[in-house]
Parts: sequence; structure tokens; C-alpha cells
Amino acid sequence: MNGNSVPSIHKPIDYRVVQVWPVQTCAYCPRLTHVAILDDAFVPDFTPVCPLHGYAQDSNAEDSPEHAEARLASVCRFILWMHADTGTVSMTVPVSDLTSIPGYEAEELAEVEELAWHASYEPPEGERIHAYAVWSTEERQFYLYEHGALVCERREQVA
Ligand SMILES: [Zn+2]
Repeated sequence: MNGNSVPSIHKPIDYRVVQVWPVQTCAYCPRLTHVAILDDAFVPDFTPVCPLHGYAQDSNAEDSPEHAEARLASVCRFILWMHADTGTVSMTVPVSDLTSIPGYEAEELAEVEELAWHASYEPPEGERIHAYAVWSTEERQFYLYEHGALVCERREQVA
């Protein structure tokens, strides 16, 4: 037992995605966000993340259904955000073979780890489409593929 530790009734923080108020600046860009990741494996353990930089990848060896849920939720958050936070995302499943993603261009550096998910995105009006989210561990950001191509521009909120 560490004599310097402050007694606490709270359980130690392992890894959690939390809603924060007031807004915080993303740790990786100037965007403002209400989402932060608490991870006691890092100092500081509090990292505000915008949807683009917000993959909830926990560093703990111990995985739980809550962690898996938080990871999927962060993928859905990104896909929705790319569509101006409109519509719905469903059936998000991991993609093991990234070359199966239509339009995906593999990184030159083969050792760079990238993760991907296949989801079904339904706009408020219109047809359901296939959406692929790719998380680049190297660049710490998501990429979205739809209609066989990389989506470069985020759809702006329509007034
Ligand atoms: Zn950001």
C-alpha cells in the first residue's frame, strides 16, 4: 500500500469514455468536444477527443464487454459525425481484411497497424449504404470509405 495515496471510496479508474462539461479542446486538434477518455495507463489520464480522433482503444490487457461497447460506440460516433450527426448507424462489425474494403488504399508502410469496421449507415432520407471506418494507429485518426472511395470532406450541418 502506497502511504502517499489519498484514500478514496471510488474504485480505481481503469478505462472509461465519459461525457464532459464544459466543452474541452481535443488533445489532437483545435476541435471542441464533450467526450473524453479516462485511462490510468497514461499520464495525464484524461484525454478529450473529438469524433475524428476519438477511437476508444483501451490500453488495458483486461478487456470487457464495456470496453468493446465503448470501442464500437466511438466508431459509430465518427461515422455519424461525418454525416453532420444525422441518420443512424447500425450493424457495426470489425473487418479483418482491409483489402476487402472497396476503394481502400493500403498504406505503403506495411507495419502500420490499421483497424477497420463495416457499418450500415442510413441517412434521414434515402437509401442505406455501406460505410467503412478505418482507424490508423499511426496517425491516430479515422478514415471513412463509402461508395468505393475515401470520403475526404465531412458533411456540414444543414441548417
Ligand atoms: Zn480532434
